[in-house]
Amino acid sequence: MIAGKLMYNMMSKQIPNILVVEDEAAIREMLNYSLGRAGFEVHEAADARQAQDMMAEMSPDLILLDWMLPGISGVELANKLRQVNRTSRLPIIMLTARGEEDDKIRGLEAGADDYVTKPFSPKELIARINAVLRRTGADNEGDTLEAGAMKLDTVGHRVSINNQPLELGPTEFRLLHFFMTHKDRVFSRSQLLDQVWGDHVYIEERTVDVHIRRLRRALESFDCAKYIQTVRGSGYRFSEQV
Ligand code: CA
Repeated sequence: MIAGKLMYNMMSKQIPNILVVEDEAAIREMLNYSLGRAGFEVHEAADARQAQDMMAEMSPDLILLDWMLPGISGVELANKLRQVNRTSRLPIIMLTARGEEDDKIRGLEAGADDYVTKPFSPKELIARINAVLRRTGADNEGDTLEAGAMKLDTVGHRVSINNQPLELGPTEFRLLHFFMTHKDRVFSRSQLLDQVWGDHVYIEERTVDVHIRRLRRALESFDCAKYIQTVRGSGYRFSEQV
């Protein structure tokens, strides 16, 4: 549906990426329009399940999460996201029609970073989004991971080898990021799904092999594919010792 949009160019300027999870199409459209105008890249999901599927392929910078969703509620989804390594610190703003103090507390306990009661003005919401992004971005100090001639900029989401930019899809980027922060350890496919994809209930283990193959192909021309090692019967390991 928006697969093309999910592949982003690693060298492009970082535009904050917001995932809107809301079952009411009119509100989703309104958010898409006003957030788009404010300079955000907006992705839409109509329920929690769709949001989880989308997050297997993309990493939003922030989630706007409706409380009342069909199926898995916003609070349940927030709880789930908090339990998975990859999304444990993902900024979440809950949207809700409820304005009661109890619900606000429950939402914040579930791990939301902020809480906006409907109806809200787009202006107010954008101010809250910017505040949350600023606050959470503060823990996200600039960091460069290195392996041989390879450098990964964790904030700008850029990878280079010998200062030459490397183009990677979002999943390959996350895989590489995970490997570079967990060198010399063997991970099974299922562990990689947990750590890199998050909730992997609907993803087959061979998906890991597909993305490993893509990552290796990207690294090949720089002679860095050898860092990603297959450990027979166990899984994969990233190591500079080859
Ligand atoms: Ca709703």
